[in-house]
Amino acid sequence: MKIVFFGTKPWEKDYLTLKIKDSGVEAGLEFIEGTLNKDNIPQSADCDIISVFVGSEINREVIDKFSNLKLIVTRSTGYDHIDLVACEDRGILVASVPSYGENTVAEHAFALLLCLSRKIYLGYEQIRENGSFNVDNLQGFDLKGKTLGVIGTGRIGKHAIKMANGFDMKVIAYDTYPNKELEKELCFTYHSFNEVLAESDVITIHVPYLKETHHLLNEESINKMKPGAYLINTSRGAVVETEALVKALESGHLGGAGLDVLEEEGVIKDELEFVLRGHPKEHDLKTILSNHVLIDLPNVIVTPHNAFNTKEAIERILDTTVEDITGFIKGKPVNLVKFKSE
Ligand code: NAD
Repeated sequence: MKIVFFGTKPWEKDYLTLKIKDSGVEAGLEFIEGTLNKDNIPQSADCDIISVFVGSEINREVIDKFSNLKLIVTRSTGYDHIDLVACEDRGILVASVPSYGENTVAEHAFALLLCLSRKIYLGYEQIRENGSFNVDNLQGFDLKGKTLGVIGTGRIGKHAIKMANGFDMKVIAYDTYPNKELEKELCFTYHSFNEVLAESDVITIHVPYLKETHHLLNEESINKMKPGAYLINTSRGAVVETEALVKALESGHLGGAGLDVLEEEGVIKDELEFVLRGHPKEHDLKTILSNHVLIDLPNVIVTPHNAFNTKEAIERILDTTVEDITGFIKGKPVNLVKFKSE
């Protein structure tokens, strides 16, 4: 079996090599530091397994270049960067890491929220830039007594609810599949989407990116949010319509936003490459411009898709990646992503 890992750091290479050796599985391993996309396909595309992270773009064109490919292991929970239809057509299995960082991502959502609610970032900048300890412009707001609207009460949403309980917030939630046991256990209540929009002082999004969740927060739904409310997004950028968010923040309808993910964030990382590719779509260009406006707004905090990134979470990701690979090689695949037809 030949396995190629994309986007791994040197310490991850050492960790994976040791763990795979310890599992007793015989495999040839190759590590490539860069991501995998159509412009970056290695010469030796004859491997059986590839492992990627969210920065790789595994579309049909990429998949077709790997003639022996049998398994794609993504070192992430979300798998919207992989064309599942193309995989199914080729009989290629896809395995993911279903849980590794539910507390980790929820902690980041709260880090963004606390940064905004207590203007931590403004105080930090003020002291570093002017040495000023003046607090006149740094008044924040309490979380205690505020209503948190959780959209998506899966693994990460559940931890966000637990944390909100610790802050004495009132929690309301929306999920297409409400978990009644969780509702009882964590003392929150499910409401309709529109009620969550209208009643929450802060909304935190924890849904996967799907056709159904594309621009779930759009102009219409953002307009239904409580005036002055805050939006936290650690799920996927395209769950929120960027232009609509910019409008709501600029008009003062929303109080602020904490965003770990941006629509078209892959492009913003490498704009030169995007421009050189030629003929960018109007929507993509508008989104990129809107992202720049967002980043510059004083009531917005953007982090670079970093919510997953703790030492403990990465080790859990790598451990599950090894289980995904060794399970497949031993004929007992685990953590497979379900295809549409299944
Ligand atoms: P999960 O599958 O455990 O939970 C998702 C929940 O969303 C489920 O309860 C599901 O019923 C609900 N849902 C699905 N579609 C919905 C809709 N249209 N409306 C309302 N609810 C809907 O997933 P999770 O582990 O909690 O992760 C959530 C997302 O967080 C992932 O899909 C991923 O995109 C993102 N994520 C981001 C980072 C990061 O670093 N920023 C890290 C990990 C995961």
